[in-house]
Amino acid sequence: MIGIAKITTIFAGILTFLGIIGPASIMASPIPAAIPNPISIPQQAQQDESLLVARETLTKRRKIVISHPDDECMFFGPTLLSLQNRKNQIHVLCLSIGNESGLGELRKKELERSCFTLGIDVGNVNIIDHPLLQDGLNNNWDPSLISDKINDYVTTHRIDTIITFDEKGVSSHPNHVAAFKGAR
Ligand SMILES: [Zn+2]
Repeated sequence: MIGIAKITTIFAGILTFLGIIGPASIMASPIPAAIPNPISIPQQAQQDESLLVARETLTKRRKIVISHPDDECMFFGPTLLSLQNRKNQIHVLCLSIGNESGLGELRKKELERSCFTLGIDVGNVNIIDHPLLQDGLNNNWDPSLISDKINDYVTTHRIDTIITFDEKGVSSHPNHVAAFKGAR
C-alpha cells in the first residue's frame, strides 16, 4: 500500500491529465480540470531568496510509473507535457528495461532520450532491471514487489503524486495491470 503519495491512473483511452485524488485511492473516472499552479508569488517578491526556497518546497513532485520504455510517450505524452507546462518536477519510474526482444539496453537509452525530449531531467528517470520484473506478456509481476519499489522511490524523492495505468493497463498488457496493482 502506498501511503504517502496520491495516486492517479490513466483511464482507458484518455490521454489527458486526470486530476488529483485522495491518498492511496484510485481514480475511477477522469476529471478534465486543470491543475492549479502550486503557488503564486508576486514578481517583486520572487527576488527574495527565502520565498524562492518556499516556492521550491511547494513544487509538486509527480511520478509517472510505467512498465516499459515507450510507455511514457505512447500513453502518457500529453499528461507529461501538461505537467511540464505547470512547473511540476516530473519523475519517471520504469519497472523494466523492456528486454522481451533482447533490445533492453537500447530501449533504456531510448527512454532517456524520450524523457529528455519531453523536458524531463534525465536524472529523474529511474529504470529497474529486476529478474522478476522482466518484460513479457507471460511474465506475471508480483504487485508487492512493485509496491516496494514504488514506496522506496516515493520516500527517497518525496513524491506527492503517482500517475500510472488504470486497472486494465490501458492496453490490457499484464505488465501494465501489475503496475496499477503495485501502485495501490
Ligand atoms: Zn508497456
